Order: sequence, then C-alpha cells, then structure tokens
Amino acid sequence: MTDRVYLDWNAGAPMRASVVARLWDSLGRTGNASSVHEEGRRARAAVEAARRSVAALVGANPRGVTFTSGGTESAVTVLAPQWFHGGRPLAFDRLLVSAVEHPAVARGGRFPADAVETVPVDRDGVVDLGALDGRLAALAANGRRALVSLMLANNETGVIQPVAEAARIAHGHGAMLHTDAVQAVGRIPVDAGALGADVLTLSAHKIGGPQGVGAIVRANDLVAVPPLLTGGGQEGQARAGTENTWGIEGFGVAATEAAHDLKAMAAVAERRDRIEAAVLDAAPEAVVFGAGAARLPNTLAVAVPGLSAETALIAFDLAGVALSSGSACSSGKVAASAVLLVMGVPTDLARCALRISIGPATTDADVARFAEVFKKVHADLTKRRGSRAA
Ligand code: PLP
Repeated sequence: MTDRVYLDWNAGAPMRASVVARLWDSLGRTGNASSVHEEGRRARAAVEAARRSVAALVGANPRGVTFTSGGTESAVTVLAPQWFHGGRPLAFDRLLVSAVEHPAVARGGRFPADAVETVPVDRDGVVDLGALDGRLAALAANGRRALVSLMLANNETGVIQPVAEAARIAHGHGAMLHTDAVQAVGRIPVDAGALGADVLTLSAHKIGGPQGVGAIVRANDLVAVPPLLTGGGQEGQARAGTENTWGIEGFGVAATEAAHDLKAMAAVAERRDRIEAAVLDAAPEAVVFGAGAARLPNTLAVAVPGLSAETALIAFDLAGVALSSGSACSSGKVAASAVLLVMGVPTDLARCALRISIGPATTDADVARFAEVFKKVHADLTKRRGSRAA
C-alpha cells in the first residue's frame, strides 16, 4: 500500500496520525457521556472539548454545535420544513437548493419533493444570485417563506459559492440559509459570522477525522432545528442517541489540526496547479471545470475528450494512483456527473471527468508520479482508440 498515491481527499481524507492515536486511547475507556459517575463525566468532558474544537474551526459558539453521524445526517436534519426562531415555530413553504448540491442536500431532506426548487448555476457552476433573488422576491410577495441551501464548496469541482451574498439576499426576503461546508472547512477559512449562514453542516472524515461523525453548527443562536432522531435527550435534545464519544473525540482532534492546515494551503494549491499543468501539457485538449471561478486549493476536475473516466480510473488504479470520477460518494457509478451536466457540459465530455483532490500530506513525489502515470495512461488509451478507429 505504501507506494500508492492517494489523490481522492474529497472522498475521504486520510485519517490523521493524531486522530488514530486518540482513538486507540479512547477505545479502551469506558463511559457514557450522559452518566453521572466519573467514567461518564470523563466521556462528557471529552465530548465537550471536541465541541469547542469544532466550533473554533468555524468561529462559532460551542453551544450551537450538535454532533451527528456525518454530513448526510446533518443536512437531512437541517432541511426541515419547520424550524424555531426565538422559540417560536418558523415554517418554510419552499426549499431552494443550488443545482450543484451534494445528493445529501439535493434530495431535499425532510421537505416534500414538490416543495423543493432548484436554483440554476452558470457555466463555472456558480449559483445565479439574480435567479435566487428573483425567486425569493416572488415567494415573499405571495407571503411565502423559503429555506435556502447553498454549499460553500463543491465536492466535484471545488468551486466556491458566494454564500455570504446569498445569505444577505435570503435574509432580505425573510428566508433562512443553510450552507453545506463539508468540503470547505480546513481548506479555506470559514467564519460562521462573516458568512452569515444561519446553519452550517460539517463532516469529520473530510478533514482527517473518523468516518461516520459530523456536526450541525447553528451560527444564528435564535434558530433551532427540530431533531431528526428523537428518543433520549442527548445533545441538548437536538439529536437523540448515545454520543459516539470516540468518533467525536477524533473529530475534535481533526478540527484543531484542520485549522492549522490553512497555513499549508498555498503549497497545496501550488501542487494542484502543477497537476493541472501536467494534464494540460500531456493533453492540451483537456477541459478544466470551474476554471473561471474561485476554487478550493486542493481540487481539480478535468476531462480529456474521448478518454472515458471509467477506463482511465481503472488504468490509474492499476498503476497505483487513486483518484475519482464525478462525485466521490458515487464512485462505482459510471453515469455522467449531474453537477457537470447542469454546468452545460455535454454528456460525452462529462463521462470523461476525473477528479483529483489532494491535501497537505500530498508530496512533490506524488505529483511527479501522477504526471508520469497520466502521460502513460493518456498515450495508451489514445493509441488504443486510434487503432480501434483504424
Ligand atoms: N456534502 C458534501 C459536499 C460532501 O462532499 C459529502 C460527502 O462526500 C457530504 C455532504 C456527505 O457527508 P458524509 O459522507 O459525512 O455523510
């Protein structure tokens, strides 16, 4: 495994050594965080320390953090047709989601399907703020209120959305805004106050924490989201079920380190740019998606016309390089990426999309190895296509 090159950080970042060490340590400890005895109090202290670390990563109040089983559960919980505001029920008639949301959001959470509307994006995959404004104005004119869900950064293209502007627009029409910040944290600075989103959602495994842990962060302390899981009163009644103490501890450690990773992002961006340059050097016909927009420093979505992603991925894998096609969560699926299609990418080209996503541990040697393998895979597949056509 050691000489493999892992370039699929957006699917899941490698677990940090410090997180693994903490997990080993805490797995041997007994205690339910709701118990009053010493073991329970120790578990509670560990959960609360993690809550402070996760809150600090996004500049929020720890009281606003609810731990969940991941980004998906967080999103589905938040996308509810009724919240509370200042303790009073706040009903949403519509859910407006951008056309490039992750399926965890695009499916509409707890909204009925006919109450979910899609806001278009431009050719770079950036949401059309004019369309959002127009739709919210029309709803408000009819006495209807919306919840808006706009991701901070896209998992496939890395394109960063204008969430602060969208939040201003939403609030101007009496709407509320959730942002799926799963791919953004640890890669770009995320300050809940500056963003103006009412609620953010996060996932531990994208920042080198354990899989199966996430968080809902209420940035607006007037709002409350009704629990998805009901039962016991854990997490301040916001999410029933015994806390996953070990996973939460690991999330806390990863959150603290992810905040420091921001200093390494210039170097990450430089390596990503070298990967992009290597692709364009070997295949000048390649198309980089979202190139005209602000992107995460670690993500490259690119397609070489005629070079099917399915075939290329297998060739890369056999050569020891792990990368992805389209959406991370849909690997194994060969359908063209829905995100690229709504950006106006033709289906044939979308089927050729490769996603390369890296992190602070990606080395110059990894970049060089990718470049070498890409050149070979491109040459081999182009030759094979040529001989088939002949
Ligand atoms: N949102 C985005 C943007 C994602 O990329 C993902 C996972 O890939 C999720 C949500 C879902 O997170 P989780 O895997 O923790 O359920």
